[in-house]
Amino acid sequence: MQRKQPIRNTSDIIKLQFYVSKFDVTTTPIIRIVDSYDIRPSSIRCSLCGKEHHDGRIVELRGGSVSNIGHICGKRYGGKGYGDALDAYLSAMNLPQLKARIREGGHKLESFRVQIGALHDSCLELRRYIQSFQSRFPDTFRELQRMAMENRPEVFESVERTDAQIADLMAANPRQNREALKYGRVSIGAISGYRFAATDWDPTHGLMKFFNEVSEFEKFQGSDLGKMRRWANWVDDLEENMQRLGAVVQDGFRFFSSGNFRLFAHLPAPLALRRQLETLTIGDLRMSDSGNTKVKPQSVLPVGIQRARKAKPTATARELRNLTGDKKMRW
Ligand SMILES: [Zn+2]
Repeated sequence: MQRKQPIRNTSDIIKLQFYVSKFDVTTTPIIRIVDSYDIRPSSIRCSLCGKEHHDGRIVELRGGSVSNIGHICGKRYGGKGYGDALDAYLSAMNLPQLKARIREGGHKLESFRVQIGALHDSCLELRRYIQSFQSRFPDTFRELQRMAMENRPEVFESVERTDAQIADLMAANPRQNREALKYGRVSIGAISGYRFAATDWDPTHGLMKFFNEVSEFEKFQGSDLGKMRRWANWVDDLEENMQRLGAVVQDGFRFFSSGNFRLFAHLPAPLALRRQLETLTIGDLRMSDSGNTKVKPQSVLPVGIQRARKAKPTATARELRNLTGDKKMRW
């Protein structure tokens, strides 16, 4: 069956030609299923049960009207017509093809296990750094977040100009205020991986979601069409999602580096803390007990991945680079 516009939200459904929001199957039976939809996080009222559902089916009724019903409601209240309609619909939707795509995705996932494991480890490590850094240097971290959000990687320092420099500037433009020229701002460097400060405070958050999806995928073996379509799409996006995550991780490790700490020491913060930044090392962040945060590096890996990792060595640096090498990815 050739699908037209995919249904993405409530109004896509309401705007369908000959749409009715309510019908009675005893007088207006279901003739055929036209489409399936999944409009989460939004929802639409089901024409059969009257409750809001995220997903369901668009059905054509005798007489030509079109409406929406939850797929369970279809089975429950849809009458005999719905069962026949469903059979016809599923075969038309080429269910085997969808299943094949998901199966293929399983193989793809298998080949990514090592990299997924490495990403997971990296995220846990970065979480330790970020929590420790944030609790020790809250002002600096806030400023870094601002800079990341405003897309300003550069750190400036105020320097007193020499009389000769001021004279040069005055010569170039005599109408300037000499007093205002006393101090100048010079860039002392750009923060590597500066965007990392603006990502979610807990870089493992995205990863957790990702892992949940992975483990859900592994357990999945139904024939729920909406779910299968979601999975097929998720599998198609797997590499891209891994690359995005990889780019974040890469930024994170650039961000937490001694070179950056020297730069951070020039950002507004209490002097004592700025002094500490001058000599801070990654090791300090790794070791430091940040006091109010207790970080337990608990594993979020699905069992399948944990098993596979025992059998395989962890990813090499090059594998990780390959994984994260896509320069087109933005974050
Ligand atoms: Zn319903």
